Amino acid sequence: MSETPTSQNTAITERSLAHVWHPCTQMSDHAGGADAAIPLIPIRKAEGIWLEDHDGRRYIDAVSSWWTNIFGHRHPHIVSSLKDQLDTLDHVIFAGFTHEPAVQLAERLCKLAPKGLDRCFYVDNGSAAVEAALKMSFHYWRNVGKPQKTRYIALTGGYHGETLGALAVGHTGIYRDTYAPLLLKPIHVASPDCYERAPGTSWEDHTRRMFADMELALEHHAHEVCAVILEPLVQCAGGMRMYHPVYLSLLREACNRHGVHLIADEIAVGFGRTGMMFACEWAGISPDFMCLSKGLTGGTLPLACVLTGDAIYQAFYAEYRAGKAFLHSHSYTGNPLACRAALATLDVFAEQDWIARTRLLGQFLWSSTAPLRSHRYVADVRQQGLILAIELAKSTRNREPFPASDRRGLRAYRHALKSHKDFGVLLRPLGDVIYFMPPYVIEPREVEAMVKIAIEAIDVATHPEK
Ligand SMILES: *Cc1c(COP(=O)(O)O)cnc(C)c1O
Repeated sequence: MSETPTSQNTAITERSLAHVWHPCTQMSDHAGGADAAIPLIPIRKAEGIWLEDHDGRRYIDAVSSWWTNIFGHRHPHIVSSLKDQLDTLDHVIFAGFTHEPAVQLAERLCKLAPKGLDRCFYVDNGSAAVEAALKMSFHYWRNVGKPQKTRYIALTGGYHGETLGALAVGHTGIYRDTYAPLLLKPIHVASPDCYERAPGTSWEDHTRRMFADMELALEHHAHEVCAVILEPLVQCAGGMRMYHPVYLSLLREACNRHGVHLIADEIAVGFGRTGMMFACEWAGISPDFMCLSKGLTGGTLPLACVLTGDAIYQAFYAEYRAGKAFLHSHSYTGNPLACRAALATLDVFAEQDWIARTRLLGQFLWSSTAPLRSHRYVADVRQQGLILAIELAKSTRNREPFPASDRRGLRAYRHALKSHKDFGVLLRPLGDVIYFMPPYVIEPREVEAMVKIAIEAIDVATHPEK
């Protein structure tokens, strides 16, 4: 698509490039205007699954704007609740003060969460929730007389955010390696990632087998370990790698046996994404800490929380002089606007059986992507609920990847945005993994349109001549 001389897009992207430093971006990829390796796209407005740029071109938001937007943009109930809240209370210090939206949200989240999670600690983004959970676990053991517990166990291929503690327990090379000298030294255990399973092995068998490494790590290190942290069922930023829920059941039992906490990072998979309200429900387990964010406010405002149980809360509860309090805070803790957006999101959840809808949409997505399962350059198509991931590879037989420098995923990204004359699709692949993680309000015909454009994009991106 060539841009017209009167392009409104160009005017604003030039201003953006003059002063804004964009996240997770090599800024030089944006140099060169419409011909840039990654053209910067200015969005003027959004509604439902659609984004619209300043020139009026529309895009399907196939990744829910980084997995946050579960009910579509500007959902009327969320919008009107926010407007009402703005007219009542904007923000107030949350130490020494409380307010209805935060109280009600804590009540409702504790009711919704797996049993035993009765306390809600608010923070303002996912990484901060992970930091709070890591600190709380360590602090708990210190308060109960086990200060030697100072380490964490995490999975290879995991992602838990960008702040130093969260980055340390993550294991996603491109995000972590540069900062390695600054980081805590967790014990990383091999992921049960089923992409790596031997031919003919079931997900469950592979997952069970991989648990042996976790059991061994717990046997060796439990005395010095506070907690195991992991993303239940889907390692999202690490390339939508998936595993069987049996891992969570085995881990719950092993953590109990070894006296180690279990931190479930449900920031990406919570709120219905995997076909259950929370991914832990697939295994019927309750973690000791559950981190939530992203879908929590329906993709409108930043908010996150850590849910935990009474046994942990009580270890901090003492007279002031005992020095056991959790002295952790953020200026915007419990922001009323964000809490109100989250309450409105839970209202929408209660309106109809969205879990059933995500499962039906998941089935439809699976059948729509059938042609990709025999594609010459597709090594794997995997799905959990309303996450479907497509792994491109140079050779599907031995799963030999394309050279990273080919940036095949990026080619697919560009093609999906620009090539179709009526509208584009926002895919944002993770390396050579193309995935769909659409808002739950997407209609089957829109799934079809999205998949059709993605398949064209995959054909173009994997073409050997290019
Ligand atoms: C996105 C994400 C985070 C970090 O959340 P931010 O709000 O981006 O800091 C942590 N854990 C998981 C599993 C995530 O997907």
